[in-house]
Amino acid sequence: MLKNLLFLLLIAFLGNSYAQYWQQQVDYRIDVKLDDKTHRLYGEIAFDYLNNAPSTLDSLYIHVWPNAYKNGNSALAKQLEGEGKKLSTIDTAKLGSMSALAFKINGSAVSWSYHPKHEDIVIIKLAQPLAPGKSLTLTTPFIVKIPSGSISRLGHIGQSYQITQWYPKPAVFDHKGWHPIPYLNQGEFYSEYGSFDVSITVPKNYVVGATGELQNSTEASFLDSLAQDTKIRMSEIIALPGGTLRDSFPPSASEWKTLRYMQDKVHDFAWFADKRYKVLKGSVKLPESGRNVTTWALFTPANALNWQNAIEYINDGTYYYSKWNGDYPYSAVTAVDGTISAGGGMEYPMITVIGNASTARELEVVIVHEVGHNWFYGILGSNERQHGWMDEGMNTANEMRYVATKYPDNQDLSDMVLGGKLHLNDLDHHDMGDIFYRFLAVVDADQPIETHSADFSSANYGAIMYQKTGLIFQYLRNYLGDELYDQCMHRYYELYQFKHPYPEDMQRVVEGVSGRKLDWLFGDLIQTTNIIDYKIKKAQRVEPLNTYTVKVKNKGSVAGPIGVSSLDKAGNILETQWTNPTDTRSTLIFKGNPAINEFAIDPNRNIPELNRSNNRILVNKALFKKLEPRKLEFMLGDHEANKTNVFWTPMMAFNHSDRTMLGVAVHNFGLPFKPVQYFISPMFSFGRKTVGGVAEISKTCFPTHGARSIKTGISIKSFGIDDDPNGQRQSYYLAATPYLKFNLVSDTRPKGYANDLTIKALIRRDIFPTDMSTEYGAKINQTMQWNKAKFSYESQMQLEGVIGYQDQVFDQANVIRISTSQQVKINYLDRKMTREFKLRLYGGFNLAYNPGSSYYNSMGRYSISMFGTAGYQDVFAENYFFNRATVYGVQYTDDMGGFRTGSNNLRMSNYWASTVNATIQLPIQPNMFVAFADFGVYDNGVGVAALYNAGLGINLGDIVGVYFPLVQSVNMGDLYQNYKTSIRLTLRFNPFNLPYKLSTLLK
Ligand SMILES: [Zn+2]
Repeated sequence: MLKNLLFLLLIAFLGNSYAQYWQQQVDYRIDVKLDDKTHRLYGEIAFDYLNNAPSTLDSLYIHVWPNAYKNGNSALAKQLEGEGKKLSTIDTAKLGSMSALAFKINGSAVSWSYHPKHEDIVIIKLAQPLAPGKSLTLTTPFIVKIPSGSISRLGHIGQSYQITQWYPKPAVFDHKGWHPIPYLNQGEFYSEYGSFDVSITVPKNYVVGATGELQNSTEASFLDSLAQDTKIRMSEIIALPGGTLRDSFPPSASEWKTLRYMQDKVHDFAWFADKRYKVLKGSVKLPESGRNVTTWALFTPANALNWQNAIEYINDGTYYYSKWNGDYPYSAVTAVDGTISAGGGMEYPMITVIGNASTARELEVVIVHEVGHNWFYGILGSNERQHGWMDEGMNTANEMRYVATKYPDNQDLSDMVLGGKLHLNDLDHHDMGDIFYRFLAVVDADQPIETHSADFSSANYGAIMYQKTGLIFQYLRNYLGDELYDQCMHRYYELYQFKHPYPEDMQRVVEGVSGRKLDWLFGDLIQTTNIIDYKIKKAQRVEPLNTYTVKVKNKGSVAGPIGVSSLDKAGNILETQWTNPTDTRSTLIFKGNPAINEFAIDPNRNIPELNRSNNRILVNKALFKKLEPRKLEFMLGDHEANKTNVFWTPMMAFNHSDRTMLGVAVHNFGLPFKPVQYFISPMFSFGRKTVGGVAEISKTCFPTHGARSIKTGISIKSFGIDDDPNGQRQSYYLAATPYLKFNLVSDTRPKGYANDLTIKALIRRDIFPTDMSTEYGAKINQTMQWNKAKFSYESQMQLEGVIGYQDQVFDQANVIRISTSQQVKINYLDRKMTREFKLRLYGGFNLAYNPGSSYYNSMGRYSISMFGTAGYQDVFAENYFFNRATVYGVQYTDDMGGFRTGSNNLRMSNYWASTVNATIQLPIQPNMFVAFADFGVYDNGVGVAALYNAGLGINLGDIVGVYFPLVQSVNMGDLYQNYKTSIRLTLRFNPFNLPYKLSTLLK
C-alpha cells in the first residue's frame, strides 16, 4: 500500500515537471526534383516556425548541411582528415554543396549570413523578433549538389541516391538555448518535431523509399506489384549472377512522376531512390494496441540472398521494441539497402538505410538496431551530439536483449572470429561489447559514457557510447527485473515521446518508477570511468538454520548493487539475491538446498565487471573451494565462465649464440583479460644444446584509492651470451626481475594523460667459460605522457643501481645513475599527410661508478653509452638482442645517448653525458622514412668532448629502426672506412607489453 501511495506521489511529481515543458514546432512543405544526370536536387522549401518558448527570438539558426561536403574547411572535413579521408584533395566532382539560397520570411527577403566558423550553418537576424506563441513562415529555393556516397551519409553511388540531411532546417532551440551544430560523421543530430509534406519528382522507373505516408495510389499499386513480383521470383533473383547486376543501372525513363509523402510528429525526412530495388512487403501486429504496421524492405538484387528474410527482421524488431518500450506510433517501417560509409546502417524517422552485411544474422542485427532507432532517436528525440548514449546506447541495450531473446544460445562472437576456428567457445552477441569495453578499461584507454560525440576516440565511440551503455542498462534490467525495468521504460516513453528528453529526465523517471536511487548508474557508470569489481569472499553453511551465509565485497569504484546466485551442478541458477548498492561489504542469506553446487556473482556476465576471476566459490559439502576444471587449448581463446583455460602456442626465436630456438609457450593470454597472467616459454637452443627462454607471471589489481591499477610480477629470462669456440662450456645468463608497476592516472584525468611508476629489482647470474658473475640491481622509473591529436610529450625520470661480483677474482663493481629524458612529438604536416617531428633531450649522471678491476671495466657495462644500450649493457634484461656478447654490435636500444650511428668507435662516459636527438618523418609515402641528427657532449675521462652525426633511416612505429649515417664528427672516426659497421639497428619489442602497445594505438 505504502509503495502504491509513493508511486502516486511520484506520478504527480513527474506530471508537474512535465507541465513546464515546451518545445518549438516546425511544419515543412518541400518540393524537390532529382536530376540524375548531374546528381543535383532542385528544391523549394517553406516551413512554419512556431515559437513555443517563453522567450522572444531575435534570430534563427538554420542548418544547410550539404555545405559540409563543400571543401576541406568544414567541421566534417576536419573530422574526416583524422580518419585519413581528405576532402581537400578529392576530385571536386565528388564534393557536395547547397546553393541558390534566397531566404524570405513571411514573403519578405531577409539578410542572412553564414556562421563565422561553419558554412553549413546559416544565421538569420529577424527584422521583427518572434514573440512567444507567434509563428513565422520561412521560404527559400535550394540546389543540392549531391556528394559521393563514399564520404558520409548524404550521397550517391552511381544512380543510387541516399538523400539525407538535405534541406535547410532550423537548429533546435530548447530550455538550454540554441543548438546550432555543424554536420559531422562521428556525432549525430538534434532536430525539432513537426510535420512534413514533401513532393519528390524523379524519373518514372525509380523505386523510392521515404519517411512518411505515401499519398499517391498509383505509386502504391506500383510498389505492391513490385512486391508481388519479388516474392514470386525470389529464388530466381538470388540465383542471378552478381557483378553487372550490382553495378549497372537501367536507363532512366523519360517520363517523370511526383510522389507525395505526409507525416506528423517526426523530426526529419529522408528518402532513398534506386532503379534496381526489389521490394518485399509485410505487416506486423503491435503487442499493445493490436494495430497493424506495414513493413517494407527495398534491396538490390546483388544482396537478395541476405535480404530474402528482411521482413521478418523488420517485423520482429518493431514487435520487440514496441513490447519493451511502447507501441510504434507510425503506420510503416522501411529498411533500404544502401552502400553508405557511415557504419553498418543509419536511421531516419520511419526509414533506415543498411550497409552491406556479410551474413544474414549480421544483416538482421543491423536492421533491428536501425529500426530500433525509431524509438531512441525518432520518437525520443534527445540531443544525440551531446548525449549520444541516450539513443545509441539505449538502442544497443535493446539490440542486445533482442538477440538474447530470439537466439538464446547464440555464439555470435565465437562464430565471427576466424569462422569459429579459435577456441572462443561460449561468446555470444553481448560479449562483443563486453570484451571490447573491458579491454579498453583495463588498459585505461576508456572515456566516460557522458562525453561529447566529437571528443570520443573512434574506439570509445563504439565501445563506450554504444556498448558500455548497452551493458550497464542490461545490468540495471538484471537488477530491477524485466517487469519493473519495462515499467520504467514505458513510463519514460509515454512522458517523452515526440519530445527532447535529457539525461536528468531519464534518471528522474527511472528512479521514480523503480523507487530506487540510481546514482551508481547515472553517476558512476555514465559520468566517470570508475570500474566495477565485486568479490565473493566466503560461503558458509549454517547447519541449524539450514541456510548459507554468503559474504561479498565491492572492491571497485562503482557503488553498485551485487547480484549473487546459487547454482546447481549443471550451472542453472537456483536463487539470486542483490546487495544494497551503497554497501561495500554485504552478507546474504540463502536458503539451504541440496542442489547448491556453487555461489557466483553475476554468472551470466550481465555486469560489465573488470575482474571476474573472484566471482565464484564452489560448495563441496562442508568444504568450500574456488577451483575450476582446467582446459588446454591451442593458440588463443576465451576464458570460459566455469573453466580455467590454458593456451599453448608454438614459439621460435633466434640469436647469435643460441642460433635457432624452438619451444612452446603456455599462457593464459585469452579473452577477456585475466588479472593474473602468466606466460611460460621454455625453448630448446640448438646453439647451446640446452634449454632457455622466458617466463613471466603478473597480477593486476584495481585499488579503490591511489593508483588506478597496480601490476605485480616477475620476469625470468635465460639466453645465450657468446659463442663457445671450444665447445667446452656455454656462456649464458639467467635473470629474474620482480617488479611493481603503478598506473597513477586518476579517473578524472584529462584524456590522453598517462603516469606510470615502475619499481624493479634484479638478480642475475652470468656464466662464462672461465668465470661467473652475480649482479643485484634496483631501478625506479617514472614515465609521464601527455598525448594530444597533433602533439605529445613524454617525460621520464630514472634512478638505478647495480652491484656486481666476479666469482673467481672476488672483484666487485657498481654503479648508481640518475637520468632523465624529455621527448616531444609534433605533427608538422597535416593537410595532405600526417608526419611528425620528434625532439628528445637526454641527461645521465653516474652518482657512483666503480668498474672493478676485471671483466666489467673492459666493456663499459656500467658506462653511459652515447649510442644507447648495447646487448652487453642490458643488465636488467629488458630487451631482446641478437648479440649480447659485445658492445661493438649493430643493435642498440634507443635509450641513453640515442646516437644513430654505428660502433666502430666506442663513445661512453663513466661520469655524465647529455644529448639531443632530432627525428623528422619525411613527407613522402609511406611514412616510415626519416631524417635524423644527434648532438651530444660527455665527459670522456680526459675532458668534455662533443659529437654529432646525421643521416637517413627507416622507422617502423617505435619498435624497429634502421639508420644510415651520412655525416659525423671527426672524433667519431671515418664514417666510410667500414660503412657496414656504421649502420645501426634499434629494436624495442616485448611481447608481454603488447596489450599496452595496443592501448596507446587505441588512444
Ligand atoms: Zn545506432
